[in-house]
Parts: sequence; structure tokens; C-alpha cells
Amino acid sequence: MKPPPFSYAAPTTLAEAVGLLTEHAEAEPRVLAGGQSLIPLLNFRLAKPGYLIDLRNVAGLSGIRHEGDVLVIGAMTRMSELERSAQVAVAAPLLAEAVGFVAHTPVRNSGTIGGSLAHADPAAELPAVALASGADLVAAGPAGSRRIPAAEFLRGPFSTALAPDEILTAIRAAAAEQVLAGAAAEAATAAEAARAGVEGLAPAGDLHASGQTRLDLARTYLRRGIELAMSRARNER
Ligand SMILES: Cc1cc2nc3c(=O)[nH]c(=O)nc-3n(C[C@H](O)[C@H](O)[C@H](O)COP(=O)(O)OP(=O)(O)OC[C@H]3O[C@@H](n4cnc5c(N)ncnc54)[C@H](O)[C@@H]3O)c2cc1C
Repeated sequence: MKPPPFSYAAPTTLAEAVGLLTEHAEAEPRVLAGGQSLIPLLNFRLAKPGYLIDLRNVAGLSGIRHEGDVLVIGAMTRMSELERSAQVAVAAPLLAEAVGFVAHTPVRNSGTIGGSLAHADPAAELPAVALASGADLVAAGPAGSRRIPAAEFLRGPFSTALAPDEILTAIRAAAAEQVLAGAAAEAATAAEAARAGVEGLAPAGDLHASGQTRLDLARTYLRRGIELAMSRARNER
């Protein structure tokens, strides 16, 4: 299918992009990053924005750098850049490991970290990593910039704390060693920790799997993840 008609702009500054979001609010504008989720939504007419604001030419939205102990990743940084980055591998190994599981190379060459987080698909890798690593997200709007912890940013399936006139500009992640520093070794077994970890979850069932199957899967994968982390901490794997 073809997308519904829309107007298009390719601003070069963040201020211009935010200004366009405000100016064309009645057209329910959307920003376009890598297009890997938004374009299919348009083609299937599941989204019908009257205005698309392409972020590709906006200066300063991509790149990976350190600010002190904090790793700062521009929202327009492509997933393939995360995959190849030595800085990400050292400071955010969970992100480096998870990003390789996203789709396949052409999708990762176009898809951005900001697009994945703003899309907030509950099955996606990068929102889960942002939650697990306690990342902060930076959003810019007409009133300026604000930092939003991942746990507040991700409100639910396909729902975020972004206002319609805000653009995600960067993701901050504390370096892994900082998170782990001083943490006591847990005596509890991985199985017990996994059981406690899924307590209170009540996943919905559908055609593909019952809620109970999903709960069992969550517990099993959590246990395996904890076992892997423990063995890595012991330098076994
Ligand atoms: C074949 C295929 C397989 C895939 N498999 C996986 C997978 O296994 N795992 C996975 O996690 N994902 C998967 N995806 C989704 C992919 O990761 C997308 O790239 C990602 O979800 C969106 O990133 P994007 O840069 O393409 O964003 P876009 O598609 O351009 O935008 C997505 C949404 O985010 C908004 N947005 C984008 N950037 C910003 C910003 N800076 N500020 C505010 N809002 C913004 C857009 O308005 C839109 O609503 C797959 C996609 C395809 C096509």
C-alpha cells in the first residue's frame, strides 16, 4: 500500500524541527528518523500524520561520546554505529550485545536508537536495555530540554512520556562499572531470583501464546540471563 498524502520538511537545526512540530500541530506531525517503523505504519495506514519532519539533516543529533563517566548517544545514531562502537562495547556492554539481535543489517543501518525508544515496541531490544541499564533520555521541546529516566519515559506498549512537540535528542547511560561498583554478590540462586523477578507480572495471552506460557518464558530467560551474568562475573564465559 501507499502512504496517505503528507507534507514534508527536512530542517537542519533542532530549533527549526521543534518549531515545525509546534507550527503544524493541527496536522498531527511526526518526526522521521530511520523510517524502519514509521514508514511501514504509513504504508499500512496505521498512522496518518499530515506532516513529516525528517531529522536526518538536523545537526548534532548523532554520535557517541563520553561526558565524564556518562556515555552520551545522539538519538539519530544508527544501530549499526552502536554495534561497531568500541566506546559502547566498553561502557555499555549490554547495549552492544543486544543491538546485534535487532532485525538484520539493512534495518540496523537505517534504524536509530532514538527511533527505537520513541516507538516503544514492548518486544524491542533497545527499550529493554534502556530500562535495565537505568538510562536517562533527553527530550527537547519549545520550553527547552528535559531529562527523563527510562522507567518514566517508557509508559507502556507504544506509549512514551514524549509530548507531541518534543524530540528525543540523546540517551545517557551510566557506565556499567559505575552501576556495578560496590554491589554485593547475591547468595540467592538464579532460579529464586528469576522467580521473584516475574512476581506480579500477568502477561496477556493471544493466538501465539497463553499468558502462562509467556510467564514461564520470562522466568526461564531471566534465570538464564542471571546465570550468564554470574558466570561472566566468575570469568567462566
Ligand atoms: C524487517 C524489520 C525487522 C525489525 N526487527 C526488529 C527487531 O528484531 N527488534 C527491534 O527492536 N526492532 C525491530 N525493528 C524495528 C527497527 O528497530 C526500527 O528501526 C525502530 O523501531 C525505529 O527506529 P527508526 O529510526 O527507524 O525510527 P522511525 O521508524 O523513523 O520512527 C519510529 C517512531 O519514533 C518516532 N521518532 C523517531 N525518532 C524520534 C526522535 N528523535 N524523537 C521523537 N520521536 C522520534 C517517529 O515519529 C515514529 O513514531 C524491525 C524493523 C523492520 C522493518
